[in-house]
Amino acid sequence: MPIRLLSSEVSSRIAAGEVVERPASVVKELTENALDAGAKNISISIADAGRALIEVADDGHGIAANELELAAARHATSKLVQSDDLFHIQTLGFRGEALASIGSVSNMTITSRIASAKEGARLKVDGGISGKVEKVGAPVGTVLRVENLFYNVPARLKFLKTDVTERRAIDALVTRYALAYPNVRFRVTDGNQSTLQTAGDGDRRAILAALYGVEVAKQMLEVMDMEDPSTGSGRTSLTGFISPTSLTRSNRKEITFFVNGRWVQEFSLTAALLQAYHTLLMVGRYPLTALFLDIAPEDVDVNVHPTKAEVRFRSQDKIFSFVQRAARKALLAYTPVASVSPQMWGGSRPASTENREVGIDWSVAGDASDELRGISNEGQETSNEVPSSSSFLVSHYSASQPSETFAAVPLLRLIGQIGSTYIVAEGPDGLYLIDQHAAHERVLFEKLMAQHDKKSIPSQALLSPEVVTLPPQSAKALTAQLPFLNHFGFEVEEFGTNTFQVRAMPALFAGGDPSSALRALVEDFEEDEAPLQAEVEAKLAARVCKRLAVKGGQTLTTEEQRALLNDLEACNSPRTCPHGRPTMIHLSVDNLEKQFGRKGPR
Ligand code: ADP
Ligand code: MG
Repeated sequence: MPIRLLSSEVSSRIAAGEVVERPASVVKELTENALDAGAKNISISIADAGRALIEVADDGHGIAANELELAAARHATSKLVQSDDLFHIQTLGFRGEALASIGSVSNMTITSRIASAKEGARLKVDGGISGKVEKVGAPVGTVLRVENLFYNVPARLKFLKTDVTERRAIDALVTRYALAYPNVRFRVTDGNQSTLQTAGDGDRRAILAALYGVEVAKQMLEVMDMEDPSTGSGRTSLTGFISPTSLTRSNRKEITFFVNGRWVQEFSLTAALLQAYHTLLMVGRYPLTALFLDIAPEDVDVNVHPTKAEVRFRSQDKIFSFVQRAARKALLAYTPVASVSPQMWGGSRPASTENREVGIDWSVAGDASDELRGISNEGQETSNEVPSSSSFLVSHYSASQPSETFAAVPLLRLIGQIGSTYIVAEGPDGLYLIDQHAAHERVLFEKLMAQHDKKSIPSQALLSPEVVTLPPQSAKALTAQLPFLNHFGFEVEEFGTNTFQVRAMPALFAGGDPSSALRALVEDFEEDEAPLQAEVEAKLAARVCKRLAVKGGQTLTTEEQRALLNDLEACNSPRTCPHGRPTMIHLSVDNLEKQFGRKGPR
């Protein structure tokens, strides 16, 4: 065949393939356009997970009637004038491709009015063919209506995932933009139902609560850091939220980064963040974050990818270490809410920055503080110049593999239980406070994994089988895992739509609630997650153990307390729960003596 130029219809469909991959990509482009237009209110309607309808209405500056056709044309943009502008892009859009691409694979209607016009104008584009611009009554702003997405690209349609997944991708996108632009009011509706609504009052934590629930939002740690111009031509800042080490997910999907107001999936940023959590999280666990990096536009190249999801930094290394340090600082500065205030014990002020006093921050896992203040594996201070102000010395605990070699729990003498939540014990080298829930989680986890390794998890039949109904997504996830469950001493079978019958549970969990166990198995499991089998099993085990372990606030008998201590002593990794939280804190005799002024400087 001879070589010839592609028709514009073919080439625009090829281009569309790059920008418009799925309904969520349309929502992204339209939302970014609305933000670029200075909208304060953005209202998004979805039908049929975006296949039938995506409509984004904004109150931005609008498009003049005589520019409507141009707006829908390829390589037409109002945001970039000369090629130099490419190197300091201030807007989200600049390629002038989105509307043309979307219009070529859908039935698109643009209705818009600028403030100086008496009426609005409307243009329809069907499969890339533009109609005539008509006058219509319309408020100032733009309504972009996209119907029947991919109707003329059946191959694309076939690649779309389930409605639930596509819909979830849209929600994930809008909620992230809502977080990044807390002063803009976002609203998403699906039919008559409103699925997301933000106030636009600048309160990011409130949006976090809408995203993840109030409990999670309350726990998120605030990051706020500036770097002097050494990282580039202007100030660089990192703001937003990261989760404490106790709050994790089984995948990276909740790690969100915005660079200059644009959501990016940038490997180097994620790597820097994970480095900040290094050793603080259990293997296979990831933090939740919503971080906003602001950097001089000339120090970042956003034009590396058609969807603008990747960026390049001029000083990659400096940005990496800035992000890593800022996140680490926020993590270490965090002093958790505890019923026993460290001040009461140590008389020192709460640690706020990365100095040696982070020792006081006992719930940040050991390795971090060890690194910073020189504590040996036994929880002893290795250097005498370490100020004694660190009150609680977290003994070393491994946040990762259970088989690591380090000091096991010393023989503990039970003193009692406080607040129905902590067990107090004396060891050869001081006082131990043990979190009964975390400790029990660890004990159950190790017992279960040991039985599993021997391929014999004793199972115990329930007196009467329990019927459990799960939400559809969870039910799907559970069905996929049914084969594994047998290994774990469960006997579960499907029992109608989204309903399961539990006949037996691992004997270890005898008396535990079968329905919590099942729920634990499917919580935050993603449908397209396919980790290694061994990893899945450990993860599942950790989850079930968490649900079925004794809770804080539960009074234990003396025998139960003692049994828990004994069991914990027998563990390989007694110092952390399977999710990486500490099970115990330690106040050494040495430290007690210092605190009471019997020895050394106070
Ligand atoms: P880009 O955003 O890269 O410029 P688009 O194809 O997304 O390209 O949009 C083309 C042009 O149409 C924009 O440059 C802008 O002038 C105009 N436009 C698109 N959407 C809106 C909107 N919601 N409000 C105002 N103008 C818009
Ligand atoms: Mg755009």
